[in-house]
Amino acid sequence: MTTLFISDLHLELTRPAITALFLDFLERRAQQAGALYILGDLFEAWIGDDDDAELGRTVAAALRRLTDQGVPTYFLHGNRDFLLGERFAAASGIQLLPESAVIELAGERVLLLHGDTLCTDDVEYQTFRAQVRDPAWRARTLALPLAQRRALAGQLRETSRQAIQQKAAAITDVNPTAVDRALRAHGVRRLIHGHTHRPAIHDWTLDGQPARRAVLGDWYDQGSVLVCDAAGWRLEPLPGPGA
Ligand code: MN
Repeated sequence: MTTLFISDLHLELTRPAITALFLDFLERRAQQAGALYILGDLFEAWIGDDDDAELGRTVAAALRRLTDQGVPTYFLHGNRDFLLGERFAAASGIQLLPESAVIELAGERVLLLHGDTLCTDDVEYQTFRAQVRDPAWRARTLALPLAQRRALAGQLRETSRQAIQQKAAAITDVNPTAVDRALRAHGVRRLIHGHTHRPAIHDWTLDGQPARRAVLGDWYDQGSVLVCDAAGWRLEPLPGPGA
């Protein structure tokens, strides 16, 4: 059985070719899979399930076709689409996962994260994250009119873009100590996450045992998928619109 992992598609109206690549991926590649995991930042922005914008509806319908075919599809929130909720899940047939989930993959327990919680050197971001993940903030924000939420999302994206430009690369990458701590806390030696847009498979030794961490790639110029099957784990690029 093949399990597919993707993240950081950052779907938005201004990049229709990437949306098309994703819809094609769902219709062909994903149909052959045993399961699909989307580890956050599927959307560049998500202001609430009550936003009936076309992109969200198109993606929900495409996911629904996949889940109706019997391919279980799981979603874990990213830092862009953390407001995605039960209504979208019901429409698309996807299953929402908690912010850290342990699954069994080929007999091994594997921790799944979006990855932002591992970037502990980015203190400013972690403060922001604690604020927006607070249930009271969430309820208050979702109660705002759509136009106001849209403006807020634009503002947050601009702040995030500027902050990333100003920060050293090491600050926006994962902290190795935080990675080890997460593995120990969940009693696992395998981790799959996205967020940093630094696709790679890292192997090291943790407390005398082999540990492995797969980092998923973003979907900016091309697609990226982690394929897990009997042969092991491998990252595959999906040729983008320009290829
Ligand atoms: Mn992210």
